Amino acid sequence: MDHTKINLLVRLQHLDNQIESIVSLQKGLPEEIDALDEDLVFTTRQIESRKKIADEHLKTRSRLHETINECKNKILNFKEKQTLARNNKEYDALSKQIEYEEKEIAQAEIQLQDIVHTIQRAQEIQKKGRQLIAENRYDEITEEMMPDDILHQQLEDLKKQVDQKREELESIVIETAEDVNLLKKKVMEQRALITSEAKRLLDKYDHLRSGTLQNAVVSLNRNACSGCNTRVPTNRHTMIVQGGFYLCESCGRIVVHERLFEEAE
Ligand SMILES: [Zn+2]
Repeated sequence: MDHTKINLLVRLQHLDNQIESIVSLQKGLPEEIDALDEDLVFTTRQIESRKKIADEHLKTRSRLHETINECKNKILNFKEKQTLARNNKEYDALSKQIEYEEKEIAQAEIQLQDIVHTIQRAQEIQKKGRQLIAENRYDEITEEMMPDDILHQQLEDLKKQVDQKREELESIVIETAEDVNLLKKKVMEQRALITSEAKRLLDKYDHLRSGTLQNAVVSLNRNACSGCNTRVPTNRHTMIVQGGFYLCESCGRIVVHERLFEEAE
């Protein structure tokens, strides 16, 4: 039996393993950075939506104050005209206009009060949140309970953390780039070689590795597949020892003698 084909594949697995072990130096940093980024977006949105509400309150308040001032000026004007009124009819008409402006003022003041109450309510809720934080009852805190200052602090902390992790990852990537590139080049050459020599084995390899599984080719360990620890039937040992391969019945991995990995180095 010609075993050179499987040797080619073991060599490919060996190269892929080397890349994998270098990438694992990144210690889950890319995933950590993604998670931090998500938190960052969430916190930023919370802060922005609070700012939007505060801005709207400010705008409404200044508009209401303006309305009140205009009404007051009109009232002064009408009262002055009343002193010059030539008859009761004219006087009463002005009184009605004054009454109307007074109602406008009262309405504006109610709206101002509503805003003040809304702000007070939000502050009360945040006060409750601060209390829960002091008692370490974080799981009971809702979004609106988070006090403004703590939310801003949280944003700063997240920015710092994500910058730090990015820097860490970048330095690892830079340090290992040369090795990874060299290995990737070797992988491409090896794949080209196998494509012409043993296309079906390569397809099997790629199919096994299409999910999360990295080790498609594994060694026989204590008479079992080292990928899933399922025993390999005794009658297949001889072929493995002779340099052949066995497809694990349990996990589908390609099982070879560990000697082949040593030779692949
Ligand atoms: Zn297995």
